[in-house]
Amino acid sequence: MEEARHFIGSEWVAPAGGETIPVLDPSDGQPFTQLARGSAADIDAAVQAARKAFDGAWGATSAADRGRVLYRLSTLVAANHEELAQLEARDTGKPLRQAHADATALARYFEFYAGAADKLHGETLPYQNGYTVFTVREPHGVTGHIVPWNYPMQIFGRSVGAALATGNACVVKPAEDACLSVLRVAELAAEAGLPAGALNIVTGYGHEAGAALARHAGIDHISFTGSPQTGKAVTQMAAENHVPVTLELGGKSPQIVFADADLDTAVPVLVSAIVQNAGQTCSAGSRVLIERAIYEPLLDKLATAFNALRVGPSHADLDCGPLISAKQQRRVWDFLDDAQHDGIPMAAHGEVIHEAPETGFYQAPTLLRDVPPAHRLAREEVFGPVLAAMAFTDEDEAVALANGTLYGLVAGIWTRDGARQLRLARRVRSGQVFINNYGAGGGVELPFGGVKHSGHGREKGFEALYGFTVLKTVAIRHG
Ligand code: NAD
Repeated sequence: MEEARHFIGSEWVAPAGGETIPVLDPSDGQPFTQLARGSAADIDAAVQAARKAFDGAWGATSAADRGRVLYRLSTLVAANHEELAQLEARDTGKPLRQAHADATALARYFEFYAGAADKLHGETLPYQNGYTVFTVREPHGVTGHIVPWNYPMQIFGRSVGAALATGNACVVKPAEDACLSVLRVAELAAEAGLPAGALNIVTGYGHEAGAALARHAGIDHISFTGSPQTGKAVTQMAAENHVPVTLELGGKSPQIVFADADLDTAVPVLVSAIVQNAGQTCSAGSRVLIERAIYEPLLDKLATAFNALRVGPSHADLDCGPLISAKQQRRVWDFLDDAQHDGIPMAAHGEVIHEAPETGFYQAPTLLRDVPPAHRLAREEVFGPVLAAMAFTDEDEAVALANGTLYGLVAGIWTRDGARQLRLARRVRSGQVFINNYGAGGGVELPFGGVKHSGHGREKGFEALYGFTVLKTVAIRHG
């Protein structure tokens, strides 16, 4: 991997503008390397390389052979697991064990989509006598992928894995805050035998390289993960060329806990669902809705757990690492200032270890109680380790609270009552519902995506393959 270069046509290419962006280590806030500052000219070169691959070697590769390339890539990711995990931990600040989990998931994405590549097919349709009609699933062509900084490897893997499996050629714009692992994986993809141009990475700022990708007329599909505001802007730019967009925009995901729940099982899951990756997870369980009868006892258990949480640099591998940047830290502080100003009680918080560098972007996990449902802490995505607790009286109120935000990505329901499990699974508006568990270990196989402002379209699982293809209907009249 070469410093401050894009990966275009399987070569390391200097940015057209010659400029670079410093890369900071969130654990100490200090620059440790730099990346290329991409421009519209770099994006154009990458789109052209992708088009050439799609019209050439990659487009001519059979589904089975695409699967073989992806399988080789999954084994190369596994063989380079330690290096990738170390790179991701340093770049994002996440604790090493989380970075290891991300590297494992990345290999698994490529393995899953390797196996799926030759299993996607069309149908034959009953029609008038004398006709045979069938459908074919075809790749879009050149797909654009705008990736955020919270899980660079995982989000790259889920999106690019499915796009390549279905025969698309990809142009990826990873986030300016964290993209080193993605560059390294692109190099491994070339080593795995992916033809030049089938996967291109252009680094840089969102408003420059990202916007140039979103509005490029040579793109046939965009997959975007990030904030609702940027998702809207990307959609508007893509609409200029009538390019379809898949959006994954985060959430304010509720965990609903009824009085009959197994609290000993629930508590560690409730805590890790908000503390994992310092709360910078689109599917973070950032609201806990608690049946009034167990409100105080459950808050006591959660408070005990929060008070024991320790925060430090990625290499210390504690419960929680730093936030990604000073900007993200200010955003979280702004929410906490509002909580304090509006008299929302802080029930507990973890501790930043004293060895953590003062220049790092730390925030102790914080449990807030009695959060009014109309307050922004109950409605907006903090994207930090802040859990908002509130009480409900009955099922109807629980559902109203759960559905009472603009988001709808993931929900957790904790109850032993089977009928209630089934009722609430239907009534809660979100893309995924977990009952007596949450997140299900990453779930490479499980379709993922939102409703309402959480976005639309599905990634992960076999379902993603439909999103990365277009359906063609062929009608043959043979008499
Ligand atoms: P963002 O949405 O601005 O950035 C995500 C990606 O979009 C990055 O690659 C960025 O470079 C790119 N981008 C930014 N502006 C662009 C533009 N005009 N055109 C095209 N691409 C553009 O997110 P952020 O500023 O890094 O974070 C802000 C908030 O977004 C966070 O606090 C959080 O709430 C949310 N977020 C959500 C997720 C998620 O997984 N759902 C991920 C990251 C951030």
